[in-house]
Amino acid sequence: MSAVHVPSPREKTRALVLDLIREAQSVSRVELADASGLAAATITNVVRGLIAEGVVHEAGRARSRGGTPRRLLELNAGSRFAVGVQIDWHTATIVILDLAGEVVARTSFAGSGPRGPQESLTELAGRIEAMLCSSGVPQDTVVGVGLATHGPQDRHSGVLLASNPSPGWKGFPIVTAFEEMLSLPVVLENDATAAVIGERGRLSNGQRTIGLVYMGSGIGGGVFVNGDAYRGASSNGTEIGHISLDINGELCGCGNRGCLEMLAGPHQVVKGAFAMPDLTERLGLVGGHDAIVKDFARLTRAAAEGDPVPRALVDASARYIGSAVVSLTNLFDLDEVVLAGTGFDHAGQIYLEAVSHALSSTSYARAHRTVHARLSSSPVFAVAIGAATMMLRRRVPSAEHS
Ligand SMILES: [Zn+2]
Repeated sequence: MSAVHVPSPREKTRALVLDLIREAQSVSRVELADASGLAAATITNVVRGLIAEGVVHEAGRARSRGGTPRRLLELNAGSRFAVGVQIDWHTATIVILDLAGEVVARTSFAGSGPRGPQESLTELAGRIEAMLCSSGVPQDTVVGVGLATHGPQDRHSGVLLASNPSPGWKGFPIVTAFEEMLSLPVVLENDATAAVIGERGRLSNGQRTIGLVYMGSGIGGGVFVNGDAYRGASSNGTEIGHISLDINGELCGCGNRGCLEMLAGPHQVVKGAFAMPDLTERLGLVGGHDAIVKDFARLTRAAAEGDPVPRALVDASARYIGSAVVSLTNLFDLDEVVLAGTGFDHAGQIYLEAVSHALSSTSYARAHRTVHARLSSSPVFAVAIGAATMMLRRRVPSAEHS
């Protein structure tokens, strides 16, 4: 198995047809030809193959005004599955999606911490096998695993290019090692890019340009443009967390000053809380790098419940994110912006309101159209869902594991 599967033109056509059936839920061959721009004979051939492989079936006929009623096609949702995994220092999540893109099982637990890749991947593989077993998903129906983590990455070699989550991960062959543990194809992806692929998968119009802000312990971004996720040279495109909003600001670890992440990320919000001993005590904040996600969750939950002190900290963070989203929108002329990641789990509505306000009051596009912002329907699992969605798109209908 290679680290990156390059789909043939035939596989791409089949993936497109499957996407259209998934989005329409029930669709005729004529409608597929119209929507895809493919010849009727091509659609007939592709659909014949999909039916023979058991991933699509005919489900009755459409009502017709004269002529022969058209036979409708639907997915066999339970015929294929994909696994999505997200791993970073703080958190790990796993989801299993069926062919229709519905979540069959999901779980979240502590991330790698200081552990190296071998130990962390072994734990993940064990959990995946247990989830497949408890969900009743046969191993031979699983098309593969999407593995999402930090950028920068060399996706072709299946390695990470930075010492993240910890030094042992840099250059380690995580894709090859994970494939050997699971006996399944594995594809590596940047976490925020995976999230935007997942969010795109829920929309019907493939031509929309979508931006995504991902907030976990830090801040990242993704853009879906011209029908695909934008990845850049090292799977680290749209690094919105490290655009400078204050050139005289504090020095960031990236070498830039006043980065969005420095001004608005969970570390900054928690740091603000620790300047107020009463607040840290009242909310039971722990402090330190390892507790950042939990401390931020406590603060954002309190803010969402109306506690004015943490609310002020979250409001300040949200205004910076709103400003950065306007820049992202201006750069890519976005149709829509999505907020995803554990950081938006509790106070997502506060962030969404700030982003929507910034877009409607300062985006370049506001004079002639509305740029919509929304919160992911599953902020915590958005990355893992996107990683599994990516695998469904690449590998279905084949489920070959050799
Ligand atoms: Zn930076």
